This record gives sequence, structure tokens and C-alpha cells, in this order.
Amino acid sequence: MNQVVMITGPASTAERGWLKPAFPFSVRAHFFEQEQSVPDGEGGRSFAWRSLCGVDAFSTRQAPMFEAGNWTRCKKCEQQVTRRAAA
Ligand SMILES: [Zn+2]
Repeated sequence: MNQVVMITGPASTAERGWLKPAFPFSVRAHFFEQEQSVPDGEGGRSFAWRSLCGVDAFSTRQAPMFEAGNWTRCKKCEQQVTRRAAA
């Protein structure tokens, strides 16, 4: 059985882009946009995210969003990105 090694990039500081949330766990990277940021009570901020295909994610300093690395990209998000680029 071939094993494909999926490499996740470093923690991301971008406000939108192809990202891999620590929570909820997903087998694909989605194109996320930051929707809200709220103080986490410890001097940092937590963020609410929504992907173009409708996946909600939440990130904190302990569970950040990661750059997509070579994870498979969500097809639905790719379609949305293509549509936006064409508009
Ligand atoms: Zn998606």
C-alpha cells in the first residue's frame, strides 16, 4: 500500500487563503476567510473562520490555522476561487 505523506505548512498568520484548520480536523485544505476575531482572555486573539464551501473553523493560539502545505485542496472551494477570479 502506498502511503502519501501529507505535509502541513507552518502556522499561518494570513487572514484568508488555503488553510488547514487544527480544529475541526479535515482531510482537505479549504480556502478560508477570517470572519471574526475575539480576545482569548490571555492577551491573544481567537479567530472564527468560514471556508468558501461553508466549513466553519475556529483557531486559537494553541490550535492555529496552518498553511495548506501539500494537502489536497477542497474541490468546492477551488470552484469558488475560480469563479471569483473569472468575475
Ligand atoms: Zn472547501
